Amino acid sequence: MTVLFWDIDGTLITTRRAGMYAWSDSVKELTGRQFDLKVEVRTAGLTDYQIAAKTFELLGIAPDADLIEQLVRRYEELLPASLPRKAGYVLPNVREILEHLRDRPDVRSYLLTGNTRGGARAKLTYFGLMEYFADGAFAEDAGARSAIAARALQLARRAAPVAEDRIFVIGDTPHDIECAGAIGARTIAVATGGYTLEELQAYDPWRAFEELPAVEEFVALIDGERSTARRRKEAGGRR
Ligand SMILES: [Mg+2]
Repeated sequence: MTVLFWDIDGTLITTRRAGMYAWSDSVKELTGRQFDLKVEVRTAGLTDYQIAAKTFELLGIAPDADLIEQLVRRYEELLPASLPRKAGYVLPNVREILEHLRDRPDVRSYLLTGNTRGGARAKLTYFGLMEYFADGAFAEDAGARSAIAARALQLARRAAPVAEDRIFVIGDTPHDIECAGAIGARTIAVATGGYTLEELQAYDPWRAFEELPAVEEFVALIDGERSTARRRKEAGGRR
């Protein structure tokens, strides 16, 4: 089984940061304070829980676990109404690739994201991508993103035997590359989020692109060695 772990923001979709409204409103409700996440934090690669902890820290409020949980839950509730406030979109080639892979019984796609499960569902439902993902691993606390990656791998292994050299993480930040490294996966990095191609390449991903490649190229990437073996066989047959 080939397993693909997909990041959401900057990889599958861009919300054009429409989630900021839900975030600011949740912070306002909980603390009575104005907070502009866009100005205060470079959020790319941080999990929702880490963003919550950072938010409280910047407001000078001790970020205890209950408070973080309350903020994240309220954000999830407000998110669906917040998304239409910016013209977000599905990133290039995403839908075509997911549609193509749906017919491949030997490839499974999972979400691997710093979003909470509820936040992920809100975004993917809004952009019509939820149907492509049976499950995934999400942020559950303010701990490291690599812990989410470990859960994602467990999930995939429980479902089917996983070929160790066929585990891929598709993501748009150095955090995705790091967490792929933590589970021995190859990263297909895309510069469609908060980082440039050069910035991503500095973290030595397996492959890096300006945007997700077209279906054929993407499939050739994940099938790499198999196609090479097939080509060798064909070459041998001609002799
Ligand atoms: Mg991302």
